[in-house]
Formats: sequence, structure tokens, C-alpha cells
Amino acid sequence: MYYIGVDLGGTNMAVGLVDENGKILHSDSRPTKSASRPAEAVLEDMADLILQVIRDSGHTLDEVKSIGVGSPGTIVSATAELVSTCNLDWHHVSFRNELQKYIDKPVYADNDANVAGLAEFVAGASQGLENSVFLTLGTGVGAGFVIGKRIYAGTHNVGAEIGHMNIMADGGEPCPCGASGCWERYASATALIREGNKACLAHPESAMNAVTGGDPEKMTAKVVLDAAKAGDPAAVEVFNNYVRYLALGIINIINILDPEMIVLGGGVSKAGDFLLNAVREEVARRVFYDEVAYASIELAQLGNDAGIIGAAMLGL
Ligand SMILES: [Zn+2]
Repeated sequence: MYYIGVDLGGTNMAVGLVDENGKILHSDSRPTKSASRPAEAVLEDMADLILQVIRDSGHTLDEVKSIGVGSPGTIVSATAELVSTCNLDWHHVSFRNELQKYIDKPVYADNDANVAGLAEFVAGASQGLENSVFLTLGTGVGAGFVIGKRIYAGTHNVGAEIGHMNIMADGGEPCPCGASGCWERYASATALIREGNKACLAHPESAMNAVTGGDPEKMTAKVVLDAAKAGDPAAVEVFNNYVRYLALGIINIINILDPEMIVLGGGVSKAGDFLLNAVREEVARRVFYDEVAYASIELAQLGNDAGIIGAAMLGL
């Protein structure tokens, strides 16, 4: 049997036909165009793309066991309903009801970070492990907890939001969630951009300024990371601070859950071993277990495919 996985984003939706080992056999994508049409129209288009992918793969609908959707926002997985998401401005949309108007198959849905964590568990870095935590270091910090080989999202499906763990008693950087001092304000790509720009003002001679031409809009996490790798002192300082905060949150996760592995994904993780080695070193310095093993920290392996693979595996 095969499984359909849908990676729904604000800009594009990607659909793939996946086998039970998490291998994508065929995939395709279309613009979501969620700003110009209602959710019902987007999901009708999604159903059309699903049927097209099955046809183009050379397989038939009879060979497909289920459809899984990974979406940003708060998802009630039991009913495959999206409660709300700031990326799409949708409220109370049932993926199951809408897709089943067109395709008579079981439909599952979950948050995109949970789904990526599931993908790494089925076919990536944390394959087969009992307990693992996936962190996506992008605009924010998303997390997917796999506990006892299942996604854990809490009693009301709003758990595992570790990016909004508050690490400042007073003040701190304001967060889009409405609070201030959330961990993701210090451990995301957004944090690297903000601090990179501050460092450029304080150190006009920084190599980062040479790349951005002094334009804050041109600052990216990659600019900071590349400059730090090359040894630019201002970028190194930003990077070291970033790693301190990232490691702080990872230590908290280890102290609460004691997982076997923490997997780093998302745009910032593209810095590869440069980031990984720094984080491992900082975690080792802070962890309070001296004589007991603790979680290994690894890079995600599936990249952008994790969205499709994990969504498909919701039906496994
Ligand atoms: Zn927050």
C-alpha cells in the first residue's frame, strides 16, 4: 500500500506518493494562493493535485491507504481539523471533511513540526528511536516530540510548543505569539538576523556589512553563519551568543524529557557541523549529568522532503 503526504505551506502545497518505508515515489506542487481564495477552494485544488500525483505515479487510488496533511498552526489531530494558523488566516477548517468530498480515503492531519519529527523518526536521523525531539530552526522554533514512537502533542493538541517556552522573567524580545522572552526569539533564524544587524551597527568593519552593503533587509542567518565560519569577530560573537541560547533550550528539553536524540532541522541547521559541534560543546558544558549518558544531538537528514514523508506516515 501507498500513502499520500501533503506539505501545506502559505506559498506552496506539495503532494507526494510515499511507500511504507517513507520513500517518496512521485511528487508535485502547486501555489497555495490562500490570500485570493477561501480554504474550501484551496482544499478542492489540493484534492485535485492528490489525484494527479497518483495518476502521474502510475499507481491507482485503490493502492492508496490514506491521506495525511502537515500544516502550520494548531491542529486537532483526532479530527484532522485546523483550529487556527497565522500563516493562512484560516479558522476551524476540517481537512477530513473537505478532502473526503472528493476522495473517499481516511484523512489525517498534524502540525508541520510534528510531522517533520515523525518523518525523521520513520526515515531520517532518529529512525526507530523510542523518544526523540525534532527542532526546526527557522523564522521561529518549531518542535516535534516523538515519545514512545508516537507524536506527542499534549492533551489539547497545543503541547510541544517549546519555541514559546519563556526564558525571561521580565521583558525580553517581543514574540508574534503575544508574549515576550520566548526561546524562539533567541534561538531562531530571526534571532541571528536581528543580532547580526545590531552587530553591523556596532562594528561597521564587520564582514557581514560587506555582504549586506549595510542594508538590514539583506541580512540573513546565512550571512551571519558564513561570516562566523570565516572568523569575522563580530559574527563570531553573535554566533556564540546564539549557540548559548540554543543550548539553553536543548538542556531544558534534556532535563524534562531525557530523549535519546535531539534532531536539528530548518534553515539554520544548514550550517552543518559548524553549528552542530558548537551546540554539542555548549550542551556538554552545561548538562548536569556527569556519569550518565544523555541525548545525542544530530542534524536532520530529510530536508524539505520531511513535510511530505511525515504527513504520509500519519496513516501508517
Ligand atoms: Zn512566543
